[in-house]
Amino acid sequence: MQSEASPASDRGPRNTASLLLASRIIEFAHANALVLDPQVFAALHAYLGDPKGETAAEVAALVEAGCLSERSLHDVAGRIASPDARRRTQTVQQGVADSLVTITERMEAHAASLDEDERIVGRIEQSLAAVQSGAPGAEPTALAGALQSIVAVHRQRLSAQRTAIRNYGASLRAEQARMEELRREIEALRTETTLDVLTGLLNRRGLDARLNAMAGSPYTLLMLDIDHFKGINDRFGHPAGDSVIRSVGAVIRHCVRDDDVVARMGGEEFAVILPATGEDAAEIVAARIRANVAARRFVKRQTGEPIGVVTVSVGGASSGSGEGGESVLERADQALYASKRGGRDRVTFFNRKEWPLAS
Ligand code: GH3
Ligand code: MG
Ligand code: MG
Repeated sequence: MQSEASPASDRGPRNTASLLLASRIIEFAHANALVLDPQVFAALHAYLGDPKGETAAEVAALVEAGCLSERSLHDVAGRIASPDARRRTQTVQQGVADSLVTITERMEAHAASLDEDERIVGRIEQSLAAVQSGAPGAEPTALAGALQSIVAVHRQRLSAQRTAIRNYGASLRAEQARMEELRREIEALRTETTLDVLTGLLNRRGLDARLNAMAGSPYTLLMLDIDHFKGINDRFGHPAGDSVIRSVGAVIRHCVRDDDVVARMGGEEFAVILPATGEDAAEIVAARIRANVAARRFVKRQTGEPIGVVTVSVGGASSGSGEGGESVLERADQALYASKRGGRDRVTFFNRKEWPLAS
């Protein structure tokens, strides 16, 4: 048959493996009620396709922490698209596109084979009609009656299958076009350089843009700085330091709501904007981040060597009416340095009475 000679079926075991992976990804997304967009696909592809990889460990941490969501997987996918990155993302995305093309081709081949089945059934029907009309006035034989009911059932089955496959094929094609469109959008967004390459979070420029956009709306800003980070670089090397920065960024992201804005200011310093959040609620969030970072046991991924406990100091300030973003940043920064002076691994808010610099 023609369909057996299609290039898709000649690509052999690698192709079968990629289809199996694609179906595991689809099942996983379904079981976890995740909308399977390209970024979610990319993160799950890395998780299920390369279980020993760095990304798999991040997704596993999300699963463990019960933090699995489209948003958290987008963050993970953003980090896949970091250092040597774009190439890797493109490979994954190309894999998605390839898988979908292959699935669609298989569906179409299957639909073509149903055409053949239907022709066969048509011929059986014709034969039955001939048997019946060949003996005018005679009752159809028991065999003809049985065949007739088999044909009827078979026809129903074929028609239902055909509709299902056509619908599936059409939705896959639509999905393929949508993914291609999203891929272009993601690429365009990345080039706007508001994202930090190491963590996939916003960078300083992205944060400034968000602060400007929030002028006049109430929010609380947190500034966070990893304690004694230089020592981590010195003892474990710069790459291990980078991975600690990434992990701390991920912990922060997972501790806040989707609407909250997380940015890496540079170095080992982060900022979080908590929109429409007063100081009391923000203090709970800040304490949660501090505790989550401190509870984590960091290890050097390449060697498994324990890095141990890493802590962050946090400073917070709530926006005053008419106050610009720069000024809120400045106050949060002062509060952060009060946390440092107070002994690190702690949270300080600018307006608290116990804070020594409060006016
Ligand atoms: P403190 O508790 O007072 O914050 O001390 P610290 O050691 O964390 O702070 P310090 O400012 O002395 O050192 C920050 C170090 O972070 C120095 C710098 O080399 C390192 N650093 C800055 N950017 C990066 C980066 O992107 N990756 C890595 N691995 N290190 C970085
Ligand atoms: Mg530091
Ligand atoms: Mg610093």
